Amino acid sequence: MKLEGRCLCGAVTYAFEGSPMFVFHCHCRDCQRAGGSVVHYGLIVPEAGFTLQGELRPYTSKAESGRAITREFCPTCGSGVINRLEMAPGAVVIRGGTLDDPTVVAPTFELYARTKPAWLKTDERMRSFDAAANAPREELSWHN
Ligand SMILES: [Zn+2]
Ligand SMILES: [Zn+2]
Repeated sequence: MKLEGRCLCGAVTYAFEGSPMFVFHCHCRDCQRAGGSVVHYGLIVPEAGFTLQGELRPYTSKAESGRAITREFCPTCGSGVINRLEMAPGAVVIRGGTLDDPTVVAPTFELYARTKPAWLKTDERMRSFDAAANAPREELSWHN
């Protein structure tokens, strides 16, 4: 599939061609603070199929696991465009709200459900984990 997206002001654009490896929601407090919302919608994709135009500014912090996560945002408008995970070299997490069409790829699981607000309902077909550490290894290996 081909996916395209951009930041709010349009200074940064990107395209991805291929298949996303994982599509998920994260409700960890860091994702909530960084995104200003209660859910982070992420698509992890192989970097080989990903191209980006424009300049992003990185901010790196340590996840609960102690591993680094770098969130990259447009310095002009502040939109968070991608994340990079220490655990997943060679992959990029697209922040799905920046997609030109964020409706085409559904998430299959959610992480940190313990800090998801009770009033937020998600599709009951999604697998739900209290933390990244509780997710099965194959779903965890790239996150945090
Ligand atoms: Zn921008
Ligand atoms: Zn998170």
